[in-house]
Amino acid sequence: MQRRKFLGRTMASGVALGGLAGVTPQLAGQAAGKRRSDLPSQFVPSAYSVPSTKYSPFTVPDYYTYADDLVVERNRPGKPHQGKVLAAVQAHSDDIPLFAAGTVAKLIDEGYTGYLIRLSNDEAAGKTLGYGVVQNEIDNQKAAEALGCKKAFSFYYRNHRMDDCAVIELRSRLIFLFRLLQVDTIVCMDPYNHYDENPDHIMAGKAVEGACWMSGASKDYPEHYKAGLKPAHVREKYYYARSPQGHNLVNRVVDVSSYIDTKVRVNMANKGKGPAGSAGSRLRQELLRQGKKLPLLGEDDEAANFQYVKFFLMDDSRSYGKQFGCEYAEAFRYIGAEPNYLDNIRRYAAAHSVPA
Ligand SMILES: [Zn+2]
Repeated sequence: MQRRKFLGRTMASGVALGGLAGVTPQLAGQAAGKRRSDLPSQFVPSAYSVPSTKYSPFTVPDYYTYADDLVVERNRPGKPHQGKVLAAVQAHSDDIPLFAAGTVAKLIDEGYTGYLIRLSNDEAAGKTLGYGVVQNEIDNQKAAEALGCKKAFSFYYRNHRMDDCAVIELRSRLIFLFRLLQVDTIVCMDPYNHYDENPDHIMAGKAVEGACWMSGASKDYPEHYKAGLKPAHVREKYYYARSPQGHNLVNRVVDVSSYIDTKVRVNMANKGKGPAGSAGSRLRQELLRQGKKLPLLGEDDEAANFQYVKFFLMDDSRSYGKQFGCEYAEAFRYIGAEPNYLDNIRRYAAAHSVPA
């Protein structure tokens, strides 16, 4: 495909899908050579580097590839998702908080009943392995509360060892929960993310992908039905990616500007793991010991924790959002509901049938 054609299609789809003024300057800017590149002119770029202030260790992957039917999802008035159920599934207690908490909070505010499901025990993040298990168990519960979830679950697989788990067991446990909770929509790590160095993320994505498909099937785990469960039809998936050298397909950007303070508080709940928690108060105390203070951290530890997360750790979400005309944004590979092809065929038959 010619570069001009690719950009033209990107710009056209952006305008059609709600004034994507922000997509185009960066993409066009990169292609026009404003961003330094040694790419010879005979090559067409297919991946776009994501700007980063380097204030956060891994908030955004290094590269995204954009689909030309990309949608910017904005706030939806009223409660359009009333009666629907959302499962936010994460390998670790800081995955959803860092990469998708704004979107989960938005969807819950728009009517979803939310559940947070953690798969590992997070033992590798804490003063000792034992403390890590306990602290992250508490954190997962607190993060769920800050998100507005109805309940949190943990499966307690050993941290960074989930590739030693039988994926069939992991998947069957998820199928049980999806059927029990009647899940309509999931938010999870992309099972096809490139270059993710964390084996737990890949396992989580693969297990969730299979569970979404099989939860609606009539022959898989039939004892569930005899015990009273109903099939669950997961129709929407929001997949996010984390990886230091990452490269992922993005077709949906969610404007989380209205939910950024909630996202900050969800991250503050992660005290045992991740870059947030009480990092702000620790920096404030360190400076006070040197007889200094950083005005942006405020006058107490609570303010310092909030400001630290919002100013430093959310800065990449802010600079990413700017490209799409949002104050803050999160990126996803979104998979929506499949149309019922049999209904379509029957409608066609009804409209075109003639006397035999
Ligand atoms: Zn993780």
